[in-house]
Amino acid sequence: MPNVDPIELEKFSLLAHKWWDPQSEFRPLHEINPLRLGYIDRTSSLSGKNVLDVGCGGGILAESMAASGASVTGIDLAEKSLQVAKLHLLESGKQVEYRKVAVETLAEERPGFYDVVTCMEMLEHVPDPAGVVSACAKLVNSDGHVFFSTLNRNPKSYLYAIIGAEYMLKLLPRGTHDYAKFIKPSELAQWCRNAGLNVSDITGMSYDPLHKSYALGKDTDVNYLIACRRD
Ligand code: SAH
Repeated sequence: MPNVDPIELEKFSLLAHKWWDPQSEFRPLHEINPLRLGYIDRTSSLSGKNVLDVGCGGGILAESMAASGASVTGIDLAEKSLQVAKLHLLESGKQVEYRKVAVETLAEERPGFYDVVTCMEMLEHVPDPAGVVSACAKLVNSDGHVFFSTLNRNPKSYLYAIIGAEYMLKLLPRGTHDYAKFIKPSELAQWCRNAGLNVSDITGMSYDPLHKSYALGKDTDVNYLIACRRD
C-alpha cells in the first residue's frame, strides 16, 4: 500500500498554480520560509551539501536551499505541483532536481546519499508518518542532518491552526488540516529514535496575529521544527 492519501494530494493539486503567489493560500509558507531556511542553514551549513526536500510542493523551500548553495532534489507525489516547481526554475534560474517518487522508493534507490533531508509541513498529510520518518533516516548519510516540521496536537493548536487560521483569519482554506493527524513532539521524537535518529533540537514557530508575523522560539504548542542526526 503506498503511503499517500489521494485526497490530500488533490487539495494541493487544486491550488498548484498559486504556489509562487505570496498573497495566495500559500502565503504562510512564503512567510515562514526565511525562518526555517535560516534554522536549517545554521544547523547544517547548506552550501555544497546534497539535500533532499520531501513533499517539496512548488519548491518554496527547495529553491531557497539551492540559492544557499546546496545541490537539491525535491520530491512530491502531486504531478501539478512538480510541474509548477519545474516551470519556476525557468524564471528563477536556480537548479533543483524535481522528481515524482515516493520517499520510501527513493530510500531504496539512494540509501545514505544525502547530507541533509528536510520534510516540512508534510507529515500531517500522510497515512503513515512514521514510515516517512524512517525513509528519511535511510536517505541521510551517517554525518547528516534530518529536519521535520509539523503541527502539535493539543487544544491550543486546534484553536490556532484550525479555528484561527482556517475560519477566523482565513490564512488557509477550510479543511487544509485534520486535527487528528497533528503530531505531538514526543510522538515525532519517538518515531525518530525508532528510525535511528537522535533528536538534537526542537524549536517552536509561532504566529503573532497582531503583527501578522512568525517567529522562532520556545513555544512549540502549535508549529514546531525538529532537527535530528543519525545515531
Ligand atoms: N514542504 C513544502 C510543501 C508543504 S504542503 C513546504 O513546506 O513549503 C504539503 C506537501 O506534501 C504538498 O506538496 C503535497 O503534495 C505533499 N504530499 C502529501 N502527501 C505526500 C506523500 N505521500 N509523498 C510526497 N508528498 C506528499
